[in-house]
Amino acid sequence: MEKRDYYEVLGVPKNADAQTIKKAYRQKAIQYHPDKNPGDKEAEEKFKEAAEAYEVLSNPEKREQYDRFGHAGVGGAAGGGFQGFDMGDIFSHFGDLFEEFGIGGFSRGGRSRGGHAVQRGTNLRVKVKLTLEEIAKGVEKNIKVQKYVPCPKCGSTGAKSPDAVKTCPTCHGSGYTVRMQQSLFGAMQMQSECGHCHGTGKVITDKCPNCNGNGVVRGEEVITLKIPAGVSDGMQLSMNGKGNAAPNKGIPGDLYVLIEEEKHPLFERDGNNLYLEYDISFPQAVLGATVEIPTIDGKARIKISPGTQSGTLLRLNGKGLPGLRSYQRGDLIVNINVWVPKNLDKEQKQQVEQWLSAPEFAPKNERRTSFFERVKQFFN
Ligand SMILES: [Zn+2]
Ligand SMILES: [Zn+2]
Repeated sequence: MEKRDYYEVLGVPKNADAQTIKKAYRQKAIQYHPDKNPGDKEAEEKFKEAAEAYEVLSNPEKREQYDRFGHAGVGGAAGGGFQGFDMGDIFSHFGDLFEEFGIGGFSRGGRSRGGHAVQRGTNLRVKVKLTLEEIAKGVEKNIKVQKYVPCPKCGSTGAKSPDAVKTCPTCHGSGYTVRMQQSLFGAMQMQSECGHCHGTGKVITDKCPNCNGNGVVRGEEVITLKIPAGVSDGMQLSMNGKGNAAPNKGIPGDLYVLIEEEKHPLFERDGNNLYLEYDISFPQAVLGATVEIPTIDGKARIKISPGTQSGTLLRLNGKGLPGLRSYQRGDLIVNINVWVPKNLDKEQKQQVEQWLSAPEFAPKNERRTSFFERVKQFFN
């Protein structure tokens, strides 16, 4: 059969953006989902075809290859795709995505060494918001995760009672069927997954009413996350086995925790360094002063020299954030601004006016280095 154009498969234009492609694939995945079309071979082919198209078009690198070279560009060993793969591969590959789509609660992929199909729960993704203070110290968070949990009524077997689980009569419990096939090399044994029990070797004669035979139900779990100091926005932590439960004592999926850093009212972060804009008064700038400034872990006193200009940078070594993988802490860089008062009374204005003609108060307007250059000088 001639391979169809991937854009045509998903029904999107060649210049479609990622969102459009995802939407289109969602539609196809729902339309041709095996749960919706049981036993329909054509739907299964369409389901696979759409998965293959999406697998390529959702990956910018593969998509570029495909745009330039067509199917040849993404075929072969390196190209991926789902030709010759079974449905389980698609479910395990796109488990997360299907979860997001709200279809196919758990994957049917995976196979144990013994030959019986092992079901694997899908991975879950949660976001956790952290303040800069929490990031600076590291934090333990308890989060409530909505997910599939083992059905408590049937112990995740999906059967109403232990008597309702019978050895599969088709494969006699092995999970696969064997047939002989003639080939160039003589008769060959061909093994395939038992269609009756889907490889589990068991059939359920009476489904558990609580989970409708799925072995898992929607539930929630409070999970304690230990977040190390020094994480940053967009970082992902993974927790093995904390994702969705799988039926039949299968392997639970993983939980991915996406770190979201809240904007701090005072500090701006650049790697492990923190920046602080700090205003001093005009007299403090002229006369010099000792001021107390906030840092991420309490207050610190810094000295302002007499004659300090706006835009003077001061560095406080080790007052930044701890490194995630090193013991070296970043620094706190303070950008000093001289605050100019606005609402002076008449008498105050007269005082200031006296200085207008004083040569000491006349600015020199020499070239000053830019903020970025000044920052750079600190780290060279
Ligand atoms: Zn069977
Ligand atoms: Zn149950």
